[in-house]
Amino acid sequence: MADATKRVALITGANKGIGLEVARQVGKAGCTVLVGARNVELGREAALRLKVEGHDAHFIALDVVKPETIKRAAEEIERNFGRLDILVNNAGIAALGRDGAPSTADIEAVRATIETNFIGALAVTQAMLPLLRKSKSASIVNVSSELGSITGHTTPEWKFAHVRAIGYSASKAAMNMMTAQLALELAGTAIKVNSVNPGYTATDLNKHSGPQTVQEGAAETIRLALAGPDGPTGGFYETGGTLPW
Ligand code: NAP
Repeated sequence: MADATKRVALITGANKGIGLEVARQVGKAGCTVLVGARNVELGREAALRLKVEGHDAHFIALDVVKPETIKRAAEEIERNFGRLDILVNNAGIAALGRDGAPSTADIEAVRATIETNFIGALAVTQAMLPLLRKSKSASIVNVSSELGSITGHTTPEWKFAHVRAIGYSASKAAMNMMTAQLALELAGTAIKVNSVNPGYTATDLNKHSGPQTVQEGAAETIRLALAGPDGPTGGFYETGGTLPW
């Protein structure tokens, strides 16, 4: 039976990259970690690795674009833990080479990116909300990106103003809208909702071109996931501050 004193955290796309590091650090902080992954073998391997490191980690099969796996994951969490305290919507893709400028981006790549990064996160959130409502103090962290900042893209001197990836940027802007609206919808409840920009981090997503380590990329997500009842809600954060929407 689950230890009722431990917070229960679900991280989607936790078999590698930023998600795996978030899972590791949340486990280190004493939470039960549910390692969400679409690939059973990779997910089991990641959960086992965290267990060997001493964390209370469990694999949970979850493909954010497959509704039946989301439903099964919610049922499994209900059965084994009865509630959820932390949800990190981390799973994400970037269609490198196919996404691009609004005038030319491959429409199927744009559709797939929005389906995973936004619809997937929204669907997982909806399925997990009844479990999050059972927590005394819950946190939803949406792993967004500065590339989702419309203010950034309309500021010519901004460092990423030249980047054209309409599918990826739109998916993260939509995710940010979900953060803003859900935080308002849940105002007065015990559930906080925030977006985080990890910053440009070396992972498979960008063929390891980012200058940050996964530890650096995961830090702000971990801070907000663990912030507790006095933490903020309805914001867009990165390490050291906030970002414009
Ligand atoms: P990554 O190493 O490629 O990890 C992405 C994770 O998402 C993998 O575990 C992947 O699983 C999983 N995933 C993809 N589609 C999924 C689906 N349909 N269902 C479940 N899991 C799925 O990339 P990362 O950089 O750590 O990315 C994590 C998050 O950070 C993403 O949301 C990304 O947009 C965001 N982000 C990253 C950066 C950066 O510079 N790296 C910057 C800003 C934001 P598989 O192993 O099965 O593919």
